[in-house]
Amino acid sequence: MIVDEAQKHRLKEYGINIKTKYKADDKILERNTDCSKNDNIKQGIILEKDYYSKTLLKKEKDFDSRILYTYEFNESKNIKCNNCGAISDINTIDDHCPYCNSSFNIEYNSKELGSKHYYDLIIKDKTYIIKTYIMDFVISFIISSIYIISTSRTFYFFDILKIVVATVLISLLLFYVFYYLDALILLPSLKRKKELQNQNQKDFFYELSKKNLDKITFYNNLLYELRELYYSDKYKNIIDFDIIDYNSFKLIEKNNNIYVDVSVDIRIIEYKNQKIVSKRTDKKYRMLWARQNDFLSPGENQIKCHNCSSSIDVREQKCKYCGTKINYYQQWYLDKELD
Ligand SMILES: [Zn+2]
Ligand SMILES: [Zn+2]
Repeated sequence: MIVDEAQKHRLKEYGINIKTKYKADDKILERNTDCSKNDNIKQGIILEKDYYSKTLLKKEKDFDSRILYTYEFNESKNIKCNNCGAISDINTIDDHCPYCNSSFNIEYNSKELGSKHYYDLIIKDKTYIIKTYIMDFVISFIISSIYIISTSRTFYFFDILKIVVATVLISLLLFYVFYYLDALILLPSLKRKKELQNQNQKDFFYELSKKNLDKITFYNNLLYELRELYYSDKYKNIIDFDIIDYNSFKLIEKNNNIYVDVSVDIRIIEYKNQKIVSKRTDKKYRMLWARQNDFLSPGENQIKCHNCSSSIDVREQKCKYCGTKINYYQQWYLDKELD
């Protein structure tokens, strides 16, 4: 499949296999990058990813159940070549007609590389506990200062020490109480922030739909582009990545172009010195809508060069025979990485 190609190539280079467990329709399904097992998945969630070299290197279990994946492929199918008319079994060919070598450009019949389906109030604020402790500490400091200053007739260095000790002690005691209290104090503001964020995302996809642009296509194109980016020579060590959450989408119309700035929380998996290194980070990308492109359809796509009408392999940048540059085959492509 076209979308899997770039990562497969990278994993082969390092001799790594990724086994992903999905849950769909109350069944546990599995897909392996070494093709030993590739179940069809329909709107599944990821439960776990295991990274193997010769042995198990790492297990990853932190995935969001609001992000869905679909990989559907019709394995019992014969493809008819539009060029020479030969019929071949989809399982025995390597993306090319075995008789005339015409490219089939095979895609999944249906795919979702990670669309976010629900917008709800899962609060994943990493700074939550820290904020609580800081607030707790400040209040403890005020209490102990007021108490010590008002009860001591003079104010010496020793009193400062007393304030420090009292602050630490009271803050430790209060932390437990505060942990529950901030359900009342901090949570509403986080919730409001989250509600706003969700509303903005809903508005964004509503705006897209008014332009007849589809949500799943947008997610698929974004993720396809990220695969092409992260498995390119620019990032030599990246073997996998997962979007943990989509933070925001911003629609920008400029010079007759439609751009979208996407901000994500992403986990990037690198292979360095025989070790798997995983890091979570915020990233921003600018996507550009390709107005006039021919788009790839599900299943096989036999495409002819506009210039010499020879068969086109869309993974190549230009026609193999006459060198004509190939148009993009997606609706959206990556314009640039922002910060
Ligand atoms: Zn053929
Ligand atoms: Zn050509």
